[in-house]
Amino acid sequence: MAFAKASVRDAQVKGRRVLVRVDFNVPLADGEVADDTRIRAALPTIELLRERGAALILAAHLGRPKGERDPALSLAPVAKRLGELLGTEVKLAPGVIEGDVDLTCGALGPGDVLLLENIRFEAGETKNDPKLAEHLAQLADVYVNDAFGAAHRAHASTAGVADYLPAYAGLLLEREVSELNAVVESPERPLVVVLGGAKVSDKVGVIDRFLEVADRVLIGGAMCFGFFKAQGIETGNSLVEGVELAGEALARAEQSDCELMLPVDLVLGREFSADTERRDSDGVEVPEGWMGLDIGPRSAAAYAEAVLGAGTVLWNGPMGAFEMEPFAGGTRAVAEAVAKSPATTVVGGGDSVAALNQFGLDDEVDWVSTGGGASLELLEGKKLPGVEALLDAEEETANA
Ligand code: ADP
Ligand code: MG
Repeated sequence: MAFAKASVRDAQVKGRRVLVRVDFNVPLADGEVADDTRIRAALPTIELLRERGAALILAAHLGRPKGERDPALSLAPVAKRLGELLGTEVKLAPGVIEGDVDLTCGALGPGDVLLLENIRFEAGETKNDPKLAEHLAQLADVYVNDAFGAAHRAHASTAGVADYLPAYAGLLLEREVSELNAVVESPERPLVVVLGGAKVSDKVGVIDRFLEVADRVLIGGAMCFGFFKAQGIETGNSLVEGVELAGEALARAEQSDCELMLPVDLVLGREFSADTERRDSDGVEVPEGWMGLDIGPRSAAAYAEAVLGAGTVLWNGPMGAFEMEPFAGGTRAVAEAVAKSPATTVVGGGDSVAALNQFGLDDEVDWVSTGGGASLELLEGKKLPGVEALLDAEEETANA
């Protein structure tokens, strides 16, 4: 299915003020942006709008300030980095409402870029308060949503504001939705899905969908322990979550044509630390006093083979505690197979992407998603409020 929402490419923006919701939720270190991937991902939309003579008002969140000002979560470092990338000054408004923001916005000229301070300093943002949405709308003439990573939230700046302004999809959001939809709607087969990581409860739900659409689902990371526990296998001190859902998925897999693969060996540690006692375990039982921290070499080889033989690969979640070198082997093997595979490869999830970067393989993947939670909800078949709120492509044509 083609992307059915109106694109920023078709918006009339010359001489107008455009409010752009972007995903600048980046890691900071010592008051500087530590990884600017998400900022760079928003540049095509920002540059397109500037070239077309729009004045830009950017809205973004950073962290979870819970509706209160927190100087540690100011977007000042982001404004600085964005300015460097664009080669132009990016002003930071002192707030979203306070500090004569409306006057500042009114004075913007074509090509100017103003970044509003952290939108989550406003309590109305996550409550999708119509008053905040209306205030945001009054600052601009057109709204563009390019914040794919926040599109699964119905917040004032991601969804509510679209009630008051003509609303268009940004280039990144459009590409994310198209790439991810293609994986589940028209994949080159076999479709191999690799799932891992620690946010198990968020992810077991998506397994059901994959058992329907994929040819193989490979489970690693802490996620496998829910499955082992459901099978009555000892899991020791491993991180165990989602046992019930995992049990249901096992039963469903029996009935489906999709092959659900679980590890056959593990790497164990005494505790979650790099210098803990480490031990290979040929088998998946975890004795008392140990925890499973990586898939073992036989599992890694089997997963790599499945990935190399795939037509399409979707990878979300590391195979082990890859941040610690003794437990990085399984994730590295899968990452290398994803990089080498002739398949169309799509990777989502902040830590999976960090693993790819750590191994220097991020350029070898066809699509690296900027949205972890949003990508999973989309793949699951859920509607994303930030996408639903936009004009339909046909409506747009009718208006033009
Ligand atoms: P992503 O961000 O890619 O979606 P998650 O956030 O779900 O992935 O999980 C990433 C984290 O999972 C990493 O910090 C990693 O250390 C942890 N992890 C992976 N395997 C295990 C395991 N067996 N036990 C504990 N933590 C694990
Ligand atoms: Mg994560």
